Amino acid sequence: DIKSLSDLEKLSVIGHGNGGTVYKVRNRKSSSVYALKVLRFDQNATIIRHQAACEAEILKRVDSQFVVKCLAVFDTIEGDLCFVMEHMESGSLYDELRVRRNLPEHAVSGIAARVLRGLQYLHGMHIVHGDIKPSNLLINGKGNVKIADFGVSKIVVGARNACDMCMGTCAYMSPERVDPERWNGDKADGFAGDVWSLGVVLLECFVGHYPLIGLGETPDWAALMCAICFGERPEMPETASLDFRSFVRRCLEKDWRNRGTVDELLDHPFVNRSF
Ligand code: ADP
Ligand code: MG
Repeated sequence: DIKSLSDLEKLSVIGHGNGGTVYKVRNRKSSSVYALKVLRFDQNATIIRHQAACEAEILKRVDSQFVVKCLAVFDTIEGDLCFVMEHMESGSLYDELRVRRNLPEHAVSGIAARVLRGLQYLHGMHIVHGDIKPSNLLINGKGNVKIADFGVSKIVVGARNACDMCMGTCAYMSPERVDPERWNGDKADGFAGDVWSLGVVLLECFVGHYPLIGLGETPDWAALMCAICFGERPEMPETASLDFRSFVRRCLEKDWRNRGTVDELLDHPFVNRSF
């Protein structure tokens, strides 16, 4: 029931990202609250129109309780692209980790289960998210995590204008994305990369810091690339259960061909326990 942008009133800024700003807005008539992501395209734009069009295309197709819902997309006269989305009241997992530092295992298990369901849905639609990381996992008022930000996502098969972008944050990128040459022409389709990123995120939630390099190290591109591609498997703390360790091990398998798949991991005891 949102017919134009003028139906919405800006309340505050809730986020800044690569290509735009996210506002908290209110429908003037119903007073329902939404998030409005505005992507700007001026000379200084860091994102390109094509990429934003991809994001819009993907958002229009997805409808899952594990993915942040987009209710409408508008073009402005200035050429901006605006997405009206469900408002995720509790912010991102990144914000949550800044406040709470780390999360108990049952909370990590809950996040794993929801993100896996979201990935199962997206992968079933041939969509690779490509940028799973704490700031792209949003939390609603009930404490439920959903996947957001399709800025670098791509539709892998069946689409003529497949968006093939290699961006995203390198810290959460899989070895096959950081160093694609290594696999002798055995080209990864990207689905396994989302699983790797999830593994990094879950481990970070539990240990309270980015887990693939030492706490004091400066995370430049070279150090990250080395850690991701050649680093030892990160030690799981003794306090983690065997289920959790085995789950993370399946996510952080360096060879994507041997990594756990979303379907396999959804059957894993770590995400199928009752607390
Ligand atoms: P970018 O592509 O710029 O990273 P995101 O879609 O990830 O854009 O949004 C940037 C930030 O804005 C998020 O990390 C989050 O803090 C906030 N945000 C984005 N969408 C929403 C939403 N639907 N509800 C609440 N906060 C949001
Ligand atoms: Mg983001």
